[in-house]
Amino acid sequence: MSDTTVQFEKLALIGIGLIGSSIARAARQHGVVKEIVCAARTADTRRVALELGVVDEAYENVADAVKDADLVILCTPVGTYGALTEEMAPFLTKGALVTDVGSVKQTVVEAIEPHIPEGVDFVAGHPVAGTEKSGPAAGFAELFAGRWCILTPSGKSREEAVEKLSAFWTALGSNVEKMDPKHHDLVLAITSHVPHLIAYNIVGTADDLEEVTQSEVIKYSAGGFRDFTRIAASDPTMWRDVFLHNKEAVLEMLGRFSEDLTALQRAIRWGDGDALFQMFSRTRDIRKQIIDAGQETAEPDFGRTVPNEDE
Ligand code: NAP
Repeated sequence: MSDTTVQFEKLALIGIGLIGSSIARAARQHGVVKEIVCAARTADTRRVALELGVVDEAYENVADAVKDADLVILCTPVGTYGALTEEMAPFLTKGALVTDVGSVKQTVVEAIEPHIPEGVDFVAGHPVAGTEKSGPAAGFAELFAGRWCILTPSGKSREEAVEKLSAFWTALGSNVEKMDPKHHDLVLAITSHVPHLIAYNIVGTADDLEEVTQSEVIKYSAGGFRDFTRIAASDPTMWRDVFLHNKEAVLEMLGRFSEDLTALQRAIRWGDGDALFQMFSRTRDIRKQIIDAGQETAEPDFGRTVPNEDE
């Protein structure tokens, strides 16, 4: 346990999957909260969370979970945030801080903020850390260590609340950055959302092929395909919601992507090796920069031994 002093008396996690349970583990490990409870819709998830010992109590209703909590974190798919905030709003304690971990920010702020009552703070956030695994058992305390957590305060967020949340994520090991919600969505569209869409698409295409059998795809998967399958194994509900809620930025980035793909297609068709070589050299340098920035390992297994993939 670190020497971080307790910052919150009671943390209520709404949803306890990979991210929620990782927050619970990290918050306990670093001693930043006294009590941790969660709300989870299915009995099995509540049972697993209690058995793992990551929470002190697990409730079916959000109203029960947020009672007396001074920190509430929404950890469910982004499409649920509006309704869940509306449901818990009458039961929030004055002085509480509400935040979320959603991978999309503009529509999330619009969905949550109108339901936040007087005397309660709301600051949106996104820990840029995750894996393709789901559920409370998939979480681990080190998930956020050395990773960025982006806070996207709105015009209504109080500076004091932003600083409090920033201190919380710092205590969990994250580097904190503040960003405008719209800009966040544009950045994440290209660094995370479009790459996931490409992975889902290529794995789907391979699955649909008739000339190449499924067993050949699996047998020879080391040739690049394997890395896509890891990303394409990510939670379908979470990613459906990400694309539905970051539509504009994803479509814009996808347009740019399609144009660049067409240019590559043209280079291949016309045998323009120089164009291909130039492009591939430029992209190799990007990976080196990511490794140098400490956001990836240089290991040939593509970081699989360090299950911490940018989402
Ligand atoms: P997860 O492991 O699948 O857990 C999701 C949790 O939300 C579970 O407790 C699940 O409950 C609950 N849930 C799902 N649908 C719900 C609904 N309709 N109503 C109420 N509860 C519902 O997901 P996760 O990876 O932790 O992701 C949670 C959030 O973190 C998402 O908003 C995502 O955008 C964000 N995020 C994810 C990553 C990542 O890499 N995974 C990274 C950064 C941020 P049950 O188990 O009872 O079904």
